[in-house]
Amino acid sequence: MNIDQLYERYKQHPAVQTDTRKLQPGDIFFALKGPNFNGNAYAEAALDMGASLAVVDDPAHYTRPEKMMLTDDVLHTLQELALWHRMQLNIPILAITGSNGKTTTKELISAVLATTYKTVATKGNLNNHIGVPLTLLSIPMDAQIAVVEMGANHQHEIESYCRVARPTHGIITNIGKAHLEGFGGEEGVKKAKGELYDFLREHDGTVFACSNYPYLLDMAKGMLEIVTYGEKDADFTGHPLAETAFLGVAVEEEEGIGTLHTHLTGTYNFPNVMAAVAVGLYFGVPGPAVKKAIEDYVPSNNRSQVVRQGSNTIIMDAYNANPSSMQAAVENFIALRAPKKVLLLGAMMELGQDSIKEHQALVDLLQRYHWHAVVLVGGDFSKAQHPYLYLDNATEAAKWLQQQQFEDTAILVKGSRSVGMEKVVGP
Ligand code: ATP
Ligand code: MG
Repeated sequence: MNIDQLYERYKQHPAVQTDTRKLQPGDIFFALKGPNFNGNAYAEAALDMGASLAVVDDPAHYTRPEKMMLTDDVLHTLQELALWHRMQLNIPILAITGSNGKTTTKELISAVLATTYKTVATKGNLNNHIGVPLTLLSIPMDAQIAVVEMGANHQHEIESYCRVARPTHGIITNIGKAHLEGFGGEEGVKKAKGELYDFLREHDGTVFACSNYPYLLDMAKGMLEIVTYGEKDADFTGHPLAETAFLGVAVEEEEGIGTLHTHLTGTYNFPNVMAAVAVGLYFGVPGPAVKKAIEDYVPSNNRSQVVRQGSNTIIMDAYNANPSSMQAAVENFIALRAPKKVLLLGAMMELGQDSIKEHQALVDLLQRYHWHAVVLVGGDFSKAQHPYLYLDNATEAAKWLQQQQFEDTAILVKGSRSVGMEKVVGP
């Protein structure tokens, strides 16, 4: 069977699956390999469960030729099929990458576009070498626009995702200090994320860029079309209002929008919101629909959520952390008006040789302000010099918080995914 025939099969029943536990009858099963599993071993089971075809790359598991396709590399075949499908779709595809805020920006943009167009977007955080092709293969022929999140922690990843997704439009949310280890420093991050701009430049695409970050405008030089959003000197301008735990955004001169009252916390979400305003209006979504979609969006998964517990306001940002997003969260917390402020910060992972230095920089920043209490949890916080309480893990931090019996207090909870800081407020 060749890719042409595989695509014919896909067209008859356009659903693919890589996990037998989620398989539906008729799906095409792709037997992917991972560090701890070999999908080939499940190929027969997938067929027994009703898969219409199983794509394998291990001859030992090529046991039912009439219902199997043997390739050199299943992942590569999945990506090829995704590209094949993408080439049949004559729609704008907006790719989103960047160090922080990709998922939030994607969710806001797809909520806005969905008011007016049949929109498909990356589900959750499926933004890697498997997630990107799966997202493309989830786009039905009658979709009008798609939004694809692309994550990366190495050079050439975004380039390879662009070859499959062939985006027509793109956003780099920002370039910050995330995954420094794999990228080889901040310049490396710029180069890696810039691969999206490189693709769009070569293919006469459009870039949406935040004017608050001059480096993005610099990187976008030579692009056919650049649409800007931000606080000043932009096609779409607005200002963050951060008096309460929820972010407000005053959008200038756009009919039917005015001030947006979001369910997001943190001024660092300002560019994410403005990106949704810019993309929506650019694609002709009416102002009132843009406004309603953004205001109705409620974040999930501990991303910038505000949780009320008794008289306390907990800013729950425990989904992930890196030096840039930590600094943004702390600065936002400084601006928040509250009688008492408490910080519970988990360590930042994957920082390589900069790790201790970055943890030290953060505690140095903290020491410039007055806090009611600060608790630092795990990782390289144990190696930084500071006057604060250090605890080994999130469970201990949860116990500590329970003992305090705070009232009328604003509490910021943030840390890398693996520290699990969400435990601090209980299940
Ligand atoms: P991942 O790399 O895990 O896919 P992501 O880029 O999709 O992350 P989000 O999931 O949208 O990012 O947000 C994760 C966290 O990043 C938020 O909870 C917040 O702390 C921080 N963040 C979001 N937007 C920004 C921004 N514009 N600048 C700095 N930090 C941000
Ligand atoms: Mg994400």
